Amino acid sequence: MGRANVMDCTPGELRALVEGLAEPPYRARQLCGWLYARGARGFAEMTDLPQAFRRRLAAEAAIATLPIARRQQAADGTEKFLFTLPDGKQIESVLIPDERRLTACISTQAGCALDCAFCLTGVMGFRRNLRAWEIVGQIVALGASAAGRRITNIVLMGMGEPLANAGQTFRALEILLCPHGPAFPPRRVTLSTVGLVPEMKALAEAGFGVNLAVSLSAPTDELRDRLMPINRRYPLGELLRACRAYPLKSHQRLTFEYVMLDQVNDTLDLARALVKLVRGLRCKVNLIPLNPAPGLPFRPSPRPRIEAFQRILKAAGVMATIRESRGREIFAACGMLALKTGAGDCEPSALSSGALSRG
Ligand code: SAH
Repeated sequence: MGRANVMDCTPGELRALVEGLAEPPYRARQLCGWLYARGARGFAEMTDLPQAFRRRLAAEAAIATLPIARRQQAADGTEKFLFTLPDGKQIESVLIPDERRLTACISTQAGCALDCAFCLTGVMGFRRNLRAWEIVGQIVALGASAAGRRITNIVLMGMGEPLANAGQTFRALEILLCPHGPAFPPRRVTLSTVGLVPEMKALAEAGFGVNLAVSLSAPTDELRDRLMPINRRYPLGELLRACRAYPLKSHQRLTFEYVMLDQVNDTLDLARALVKLVRGLRCKVNLIPLNPAPGLPFRPSPRPRIEAFQRILKAAGVMATIRESRGREIFAACGMLALKTGAGDCEPSALSSGALSRG
């Protein structure tokens, strides 16, 4: 029989584990503190736990962590990490520093099944769902490698669709938000989804209070059907109803991500359609210039068109920002996580800078 991995236990499951070993519930909080706040990697280190309990833990449980298989840094300071999972499958995570924040972008699946037309992870295809500890383990490993800096924000925007792996993703959120463990405030955690409506409702009901980002990329069903096949299952009307039902605290806004594709979804008429679609919702639209890559049949919209699109949103009172892509040359930017290094695979930097400066 395999030993229980304590890193795969939610706070409730840790409590059950220690109670099963005839210890009082507060031991679970101590254990959690050791695992996440102090980064213990062996039970022997946990010196304020009784020795007999530590020995039993060592006999019956394990602390499994994710080994970093490769680490790459982009010129802008963005770092990408490759992890090899116990079964040999691989995933990537990204650490994005700026003046005020250190954001960790983590994966919830190895690969992705959703097949959005503009995303390289989609081209790679689906391998499998991650377990909760494999999701949390990315944060633990990135945090340990961040040289004195603390991860301030988490975005579930790496490989995969978090809500297609809702069970394990929700367990991972329980762990990441646990006040005795990693203790991330919900307002610093963002889950991004293509819009799986039933799971959006489940997320709302779970009451985590995390930020929700919805990848929209088209304001009409006709166009979204072509760019994001999931739209045929959950069309815009249904999706927007779920968005309007997502509970927001007073400081919170829903985010809509909109990947800007040259001549495809960037016309000013579509900007006006987008305004109509989101009217009355407390939201922000995040315009993301496409990160181009060989194999993707699109070009990024020229900067002036993105700005014109943004002006229409703003003039109508819709908050709109333009996301600056980070780490493109190492395939670390949005939609580029597909186990490529950028060296030898192909040259995204040459492609992207050229495409962005035209127009
Ligand atoms: N499956 C979830 C989580 C991944 S988030 C989701 O799609 O929301 C990844 C984000 O990158 C999404 O907003 C997606 O629209 C965006 N994206 C995908 N491919 C991209 C590309 N080539 N360039 C820029 N952004 C891209």
